[in-house]
Amino acid sequence: MRIGLISGHQIGELKKTQIIEIETEYGKVFVTASKLAKHEVFSIGRHGRESNIPPHKINYKANIQALVDCGVKRIIALNTVGSLKNSIKPGDIVVPHDFIDFTKNRSYTFYDDRRFHIDMSNPFCPELRNLIYENAKKIKKTGVHDKGVYLVTEGPRLETISEIRMFSNFSDIVGMTLIPELVLAREKGLCYASLCIVSNMAAGLQSVLKAGDIIKISKEEGDVVSKIIISTIESMGSRIKCSCRDVIKGAEI
Ligand SMILES: [Zn+2]
Repeated sequence: MRIGLISGHQIGELKKTQIIEIETEYGKVFVTASKLAKHEVFSIGRHGRESNIPPHKINYKANIQALVDCGVKRIIALNTVGSLKNSIKPGDIVVPHDFIDFTKNRSYTFYDDRRFHIDMSNPFCPELRNLIYENAKKIKKTGVHDKGVYLVTEGPRLETISEIRMFSNFSDIVGMTLIPELVLAREKGLCYASLCIVSNMAAGLQSVLKAGDIIKISKEEGDVVSKIIISTIESMGSRIKCSCRDVIKGAEI
């Protein structure tokens, strides 16, 4: 099967790596193609080749279209998030099951000229979520959460204390990169699930929050995350049993 990986991390141990340049109608994307077990893996650095594109400027449409053009059926996303709950600590892993979108100014759909309304009552692929969770549990043992509501902010600024107080009533983790990536993947009928690595407690839940702290923990946890991703892909069969592909049927009026 062809599997897409969208992350800000380098994943170790991927063999026979080759960088391909894909020209989509939304822009150019560099994709790293590799093999793992019986699968072909196509990886994209969400923040661009130089890792310098901020969340609100990421070309989400080009990234998803490039993976579609590569023939990808499933996407595993890696996201760095802040925790909104005392029970979720820095270094923990959350496999979210739902989201709340507080972004403001992004390009949210492939269908600007048609009335296409994608169902979001079950936004993440249940089969892929379960695989990520089982493999994360096997490798990391503690601090792995099988559910979570991901609240997405526009950024690039971090949140105020009052915003965090409000968000924490309705969600578990906060970040800037899930939307519109997930929505665009669903519009293409792809399976999508996210592995979220918690880098910090959100504003007001820890003393001072610096952007450097966020980078530090995602680097420290990089090896564990790589192992979980590799193990998840290796454990994947070649048949898809979920119904993510069917979501696009009946979405158009
Ligand atoms: Zn699925």
